[in-house]
Amino acid sequence: MSQYRAVRGMVDVLPDETPLWQMLEQTARDVIGAHGYSEIRTPLVERTDLFARSIGEVTDIVEKEMYSFADRNDEGLSLRPEGTASTVRAMVQHNLIQSAQRVWYMGPMFRYERPQKGRQRQFHQLGVEAFGVPTPDQDAELLLLCRQWWRRLGIDDVVTLELNTIGSAESRHAYKQALTAYLRQHVESLDEDSQRRLATNPLRILDSKSAATQNVVAGAPAMARFLDDESKAHHDQLCELLGQAGLSFVANPNLVRGLDYYNKTVFEWTTDRLGAQATVCGGGRYDGMVGQFGGKATPAAGFAAGLERLVMLLQSLEVDALDHPDLYVISADSNALSQAMLEADRIRTEFPGLRVVQHLGGASLKSQFKRADKSGASWAMVYGPDELAQGTVTVKPLRTNEEQTSLDRGALNDFLHRLERLASDIEE
Ligand code: ATP
Ligand code: MG
Repeated sequence: MSQYRAVRGMVDVLPDETPLWQMLEQTARDVIGAHGYSEIRTPLVERTDLFARSIGEVTDIVEKEMYSFADRNDEGLSLRPEGTASTVRAMVQHNLIQSAQRVWYMGPMFRYERPQKGRQRQFHQLGVEAFGVPTPDQDAELLLLCRQWWRRLGIDDVVTLELNTIGSAESRHAYKQALTAYLRQHVESLDEDSQRRLATNPLRILDSKSAATQNVVAGAPAMARFLDDESKAHHDQLCELLGQAGLSFVANPNLVRGLDYYNKTVFEWTTDRLGAQATVCGGGRYDGMVGQFGGKATPAAGFAAGLERLVMLLQSLEVDALDHPDLYVISADSNALSQAMLEADRIRTEFPGLRVVQHLGGASLKSQFKRADKSGASWAMVYGPDELAQGTVTVKPLRTNEEQTSLDRGALNDFLHRLERLASDIEE
């Protein structure tokens, strides 16, 4: 075995998995594009304080998960742990908040976490951000967009929308005080992590996974009682819009999300098919961030989906996105090979929807057929001395019981047209 291994928590996506990834990415591009969102690509590295300020100094991400370093000029930089801060930074820097209101991004994120199933140190997110609309129709659009994507992927039956509102910064402040006062009375029953958070980030205690802590949380004052009227009305309208769209959700009053920048709407899409790493997508409103970054105060909302977890979910449903070749081209000798390569090249030009794999490096016909079978190709296309002499080609089905046939140029083109139509039907 090689002395080099991938860095712990950083994962190679191997060729047999990339078709599933590409399917995930393509469906996302289609669905998001159909809602009028444009892609934005920002650097993987930003100044550390950009993340510290927006995500929050006392969040898990900033406290212990960032890959931070000083560059050769002693500037404090970090690999991005998420995409929203960079997106907002770029939108403000380039004065785009007004003109391009809807954007999305996709790419790797970095967090120093304990690696486990569905949790990596380099992972991938696809995020969608919308700027400029303060009203709940924006929140609803984002959620309907998610539903479109889930439907396209065939996972809409296995994901659940969990929804909450965390109100305004002021109402949250009041709630934090009441919650902290309550939790202090039960401090000895809280898990260690939550005891620490009591002083720094008490809201996070609400979604603690510790059973003992959840017992305490069950008796805590409800956030809903502290909500400001505007947040309450916003939430009611959102629920109504979702109801009208037939998008059902579970109200989860303990959902707070791990990032400080949210206000009003927060949501997660969860599944019971992935064990502890159950959230495949999370988001909400962050009306304060643009102003905080020096832009004109502009409301905003968005979400980020974890692509590794979506891939795992597709795998658990045995979704097959393998793109097998349509044709595997076999030739009997070097004469036939040069003819076969020319033909394969022509077919790729004239039938761009077909995947044509040429057997290279020579071998007996028998072992070429074995390779053809292993490749998963639907048809073998055979060039031998007879075919060369007659100006024909033999096509042999590898997956069905049809007869093999010898085709002249015209018949071959008809055959390829049919095959190409079939291939595009399957892709649909
Ligand atoms: P979690 O509670 O699972 O740590 P989070 O609240 O930290 O999630 P977000 O920052 O909201 O997650 O990121 C959005 C999505 O990105 C998550 O719902 C998840 O699907 C995915 N994600 C986050 N961290 C990781 C990771 N370390 N490895 C793989 N996917 C991740
Ligand atoms: Mg996390």
